[in-house]
Amino acid sequence: MSNNKRQIPIALPSLGEEEWQAVREPIFSGWLTQGPKVAEFEKDFADIHNVSHAMATTSCTSALHIALKALGVGPGDEVIVPAFTWVATANAVLYCGATPVLVDVSCRTYNLEVTECVAAVTERTKAVVTVHAFGLCADMDELKKALPQNIHIVEDAACAAGAIHNNQFAGTLGDIAAFSFHPRKSITTGEGGMITSNHSGLMEEAEKLRNHGLNLNVGSNKPRPYDMPDVDVLGFNYRMTDLQAAVGIVQLGKLNRFIEERGRWAKWYNDQFAEIDWIQCPEEPENGRHSWQSYVIYVDPDKAPHSRNEIMDALLAEGISTRPGTQAVHMLSFYAEKYGFQKDDFPGAFKCYSNTIALPLHNQMTQEDFEYVRDAIVNISQSKII
Ligand SMILES: *Cc1c(COP(=O)(O)O)cnc(C)c1O
Repeated sequence: MSNNKRQIPIALPSLGEEEWQAVREPIFSGWLTQGPKVAEFEKDFADIHNVSHAMATTSCTSALHIALKALGVGPGDEVIVPAFTWVATANAVLYCGATPVLVDVSCRTYNLEVTECVAAVTERTKAVVTVHAFGLCADMDELKKALPQNIHIVEDAACAAGAIHNNQFAGTLGDIAAFSFHPRKSITTGEGGMITSNHSGLMEEAEKLRNHGLNLNVGSNKPRPYDMPDVDVLGFNYRMTDLQAAVGIVQLGKLNRFIEERGRWAKWYNDQFAEIDWIQCPEEPENGRHSWQSYVIYVDPDKAPHSRNEIMDALLAEGISTRPGTQAVHMLSFYAEKYGFQKDDFPGAFKCYSNTIALPLHNQMTQEDFEYVRDAIVNISQSKII
């Protein structure tokens, strides 16, 4: 291995001159909060995902919150969520006063197990939140077939902007969906989120919840200076700013290129690691497109020459930053204490949490960077931990 160590971050947003120029307009026009840029961003996002409605929010977390609220999720309801996900998926259920019911995931796809999901259904189940883990769409056809009709499906598409499943985009596969524009995701607005749905009634409700619960349908009368909108529901301020949307519009224009580039390198990683028996490479969809928000390998603990943590330490020593795939929600002390979870309650999620490594994959990596990561993994595989 070469002596001049690189520093390779696990993720790095790709922003530049165009994004910088894009924020001039809102700054100089003085229209900073939700306005024309948000409307344009929403329209572009809906067009690209082939969905009738898109609505920008402050984050995917707030998007999930109001998506669930719009579906009428409240106290006494149960909402099924995968146990291997970012904590926000489960938190959003608790924000509604409902109970998150965790179900196990597959260590091959990292997505929710449909059989486990169906087994968890009770008469109180109001919705299922499916996560498209790291940009691989969950098996939505199986899920829809297996679930009772009255149970709503929410897509946690935080990592799945531009992902495709059977010719349909993420964001159109359930009743309503939530996306994230956090800098770790495929495209970014700093913080930010988006709700999509083909149900106009749900989106009307969501729009009201985004904006303090204001009822802006005050009738056809000419508004008078003293007219104020009524509030007939407890809403929130989850509005995106025009500054963020201006950046989002530019980022969205780059989404396809970002995904294609990352997809090429993900396949390259898969090829490079094909002969390494302790690495299980991430699944590629048979009929669709992975958005490759992250490249997450599964380390087979019985075959690996070192423990997962030793491997991550060794990579860090070479300047390569990595993270576990995501959280096992039942292992987080807030959830473990609240529900008395044990690690074996969701063995798939626990194994994914313990044995996965997200390797660097982002649009600012060079060929030399990718080869550097590959060489480090190959060295580790030959037991050369320095
Ligand atoms: C990142 C992420 C979230 C949270 O997104 P924010 O925009 O940071 O609120 C939720 N769910 C999943 C699966 C995520 O990866």
